Amino acid sequence: ARRAAAGGGGEEDAGGQQPTIFSKIIARSVPATILYEDDKCLVFRDVAPQAPVHFLVIPKRPIPRISRVGPGDTELLGHLLVVAARTAQVEGLADGYRLVINDGKHGAQSVYHLHLHVLGGRQLGWPPG
Ligand code: C5P
Repeated sequence: ARRAAAGGGGEEDAGGQQPTIFSKIIARSVPATILYEDDKCLVFRDVAPQAPVHFLVIPKRPIPRISRVGPGDTELLGHLLVVAARTAQVEGLADGYRLVINDGKHGAQSVYHLHLHVLGGRQLGWPPG
């Protein structure tokens, strides 16, 4: 019923209880190059980098997408941003970088486990496609 109501994008395939590929990365059953980990989040390099530096910051709790967060997620979301900025610094992105969160079909989200993209190491264009 939820699937029909939500209306597509494959969201409910991962927005329910099924683990996504990112849950498997957290569980170490799928390999990734991990840059940072703490009790609330994991940071790893994107397997298909779109810039010289491209990593993802994900909460360990599998929130499916940014449009599903609530007031109880405020502290966690702030933490993800702080970790993103700190990791960008460690990665040497002193000339700047971009944070991206894709949401849903129009946002071209493909993995329904919330993630922040951090892209840098080259001049990025604007607006994005
Ligand atoms: O925002 P979106 O959902 O489209 O991004 C998912 C990202 O996860 C992609 O950039 C993809 O390359 C990355 N990915 C990954 N490791 C995997 C599967 C996907 O880094 N095993």
